[in-house]
Amino acid sequence: TGDSEDYDSEVASVCPFCGVGCQISLKVKDGRVKFVEGLDGPANEGRLCVKGRFGFDYIHHAHRVTKPLIRRDDAPEKGLNVDPANPLTHFREATWDEALDVAASGLAHLRDTHGGASVAGFGSAKCTNEEAYLFQKMIRQGFGHNNVDHCTRLCHASSVAALIENVGSGAVTATFNEIENADVAIVIGCNPAENHPVAATYFKQFTKRGGKLIVMDPRGQSLSRFATHMLQFRPGADVSLLNAIMHVIVEEGLYDAAYISSMTENWEAEKAHLADFSPEKMADICGIDAQTLRDVARTFAAGKAGMIFWGMGVSQHIHGTDNSRCLISLALMTGNVGKPGAGLHPLRGQNNVQGASDAGLVPMFLPDYQSVTDDGVRSAFTSVWQSGDFSAEKGLTVTEIINDIHAGNTRGMYILGENPAMSDPDVTHARDALAKLEHLVVQDIFVTETANYADVILPASAFAEKIGTVTNTNRQVQMGRPAVAPPGDAREDWWIEVELAKRLGLNWTYTHPSQVFAEMALNMKSLLNITWARLETQNAVTYPSLSPEDPGQAIVFGDGFPRDNNRAKFTPADVIAPDEAPDAEYPMILITGRQLEHWHTGSMTRRSKVLDAVEPEANCSLHPKTLRALGITAGDFIRLTTRRGTVALMARADRAVAEDMVFLPFAFVEAAANILTNSAIDPYGKIPEFKFSAVRAEKVVMS
Ligand code: SF4
Repeated sequence: TGDSEDYDSEVASVCPFCGVGCQISLKVKDGRVKFVEGLDGPANEGRLCVKGRFGFDYIHHAHRVTKPLIRRDDAPEKGLNVDPANPLTHFREATWDEALDVAASGLAHLRDTHGGASVAGFGSAKCTNEEAYLFQKMIRQGFGHNNVDHCTRLCHASSVAALIENVGSGAVTATFNEIENADVAIVIGCNPAENHPVAATYFKQFTKRGGKLIVMDPRGQSLSRFATHMLQFRPGADVSLLNAIMHVIVEEGLYDAAYISSMTENWEAEKAHLADFSPEKMADICGIDAQTLRDVARTFAAGKAGMIFWGMGVSQHIHGTDNSRCLISLALMTGNVGKPGAGLHPLRGQNNVQGASDAGLVPMFLPDYQSVTDDGVRSAFTSVWQSGDFSAEKGLTVTEIINDIHAGNTRGMYILGENPAMSDPDVTHARDALAKLEHLVVQDIFVTETANYADVILPASAFAEKIGTVTNTNRQVQMGRPAVAPPGDAREDWWIEVELAKRLGLNWTYTHPSQVFAEMALNMKSLLNITWARLETQNAVTYPSLSPEDPGQAIVFGDGFPRDNNRAKFTPADVIAPDEAPDAEYPMILITGRQLEHWHTGSMTRRSKVLDAVEPEANCSLHPKTLRALGITAGDFIRLTTRRGTVALMARADRAVAEDMVFLPFAFVEAAANILTNSAIDPYGKIPEFKFSAVRAEKVVMS
């Protein structure tokens, strides 16, 4: 922090890290962001976590790409072999005109030679809504298909699939701040104190007021100190656990019969299905005794208003959609949707993953989750776009596109701000695919691991260098503003997209993101009453907003659901085992996740001095007893091996990790967690099973 004389100007914007969407004030001196303060935004009320307060200096890091780069003719073979501090060993600097011409002509050549489906795109939840919209439009309009996706496929795609199926909308039904009106809450499969820290402060305050907090997670966490119940259940046993809790609610008649009868459908099928899941039968499977399961069911059902929060511990399974279906059923049977202090809230990960998904950056939906298979929907967009039709088939998802490269069909890609060479499951397979591409255009602020494989790198802007809207986990559309200029020749992402599109022959004439926002609003009912001008003055509006004066609805679906019959649906969930089981060779369970100080693939936070100083080294956590059994002392190197590969890194002792588990953060390239993970996917959300791999842990003997 600093005093007013410490800076020349201040600019209101939004934190670039997690989906909480804290509003911040960037304090600028001599063209650099000097420090950051929290603003009184609707989600944070002045609060910030360590990332939001200290994690911004990556924008001035020496590794920033400041010139367009083209792969040199004499560059070594594509691989993970570029020094981000010195990319000119593999690339040469170019003018924007040359780089854009080479980028576009390579993609156009593949399109014109092999068909549009030979080019796919990964956009970014780190970009603005306008940039996400333009990205999906470019793939659909420019290449005629829907093979466009982004990291939602790796985080909450299964939650969204279940929400759309059962409540008719892919967003939260209540803001997380609504917990102040709840008297009971479940937090399952997430660790908000590390991953959504400002939201966690509201959860803690809720317990101080007497709210009953039930935490459920295979790994212990600090929030459990505030909980009435902490259920450290067996990894992968989510459906058994949740069905057992719902079984008790049915058996003991604790459900809200009036709500079920007036607001839902398929109750009888759900009720019949749950009969087989008594706590006594499920106790061993989930590792939680029957009495505790009964207590939790009674506690949640007894609440007058209850909320359910979940994260990737729920979604990143081959049964991720079923896990979310169970949570939705639990909320519906207790009447906990559409009233103050009640609701379903998947805590969204990236700062704009909600907005990017809303903007249609997914292969099955156009903006506002309108199906690509609907002729009327496609024609509504092509009429605004003034262009011909595109494919009515749902496109390929992130992992399907990687497989399609190996199959020889996808030959070129445009990747904006995504880092699949670190973030994809079984990442060796993904890296091999990137190396096979005939033409790869990467747009980013650093030479990421993915940019190592690029033919052209287009230097992009960090959040503090551009204007645009972002949408947080609460459905709050907020205005991000530029505080400093991009370094060197780096440009705003929307500008780069427009220039590329023109060279692909598209009729794009945008000169400002506000024009893109206005176009989005033409076909997005969610943006009704939300205008660029309004966001410029008010900073945030929650959708839906019922009038130009309405700040937006914190709670939705009190008077019906956006489904054909206005009713929400119960979808019974069966138990599906994880894709691979531990055995004699791989006897433990690997779970990957994040740490407080580091963000996703580490490209930003590992270049932030404070954050990297606090957490500088690749590490994994095991129970102290497990370490002892392996002959390892905390701080020693350990080798982790799965059926996909091996990494070696420092081991930590952590009693929060069960004795047969390893917890591995995924931000460290030197021991990339996804070398180990399984690419098996959930059949509905198509999300990989990052949260369960069979693993072997061994002591590394130093020679
Ligand atoms: Fe940024 Fe999330 Fe921390 Fe808020 S809670 S400051 S949005 S990282």
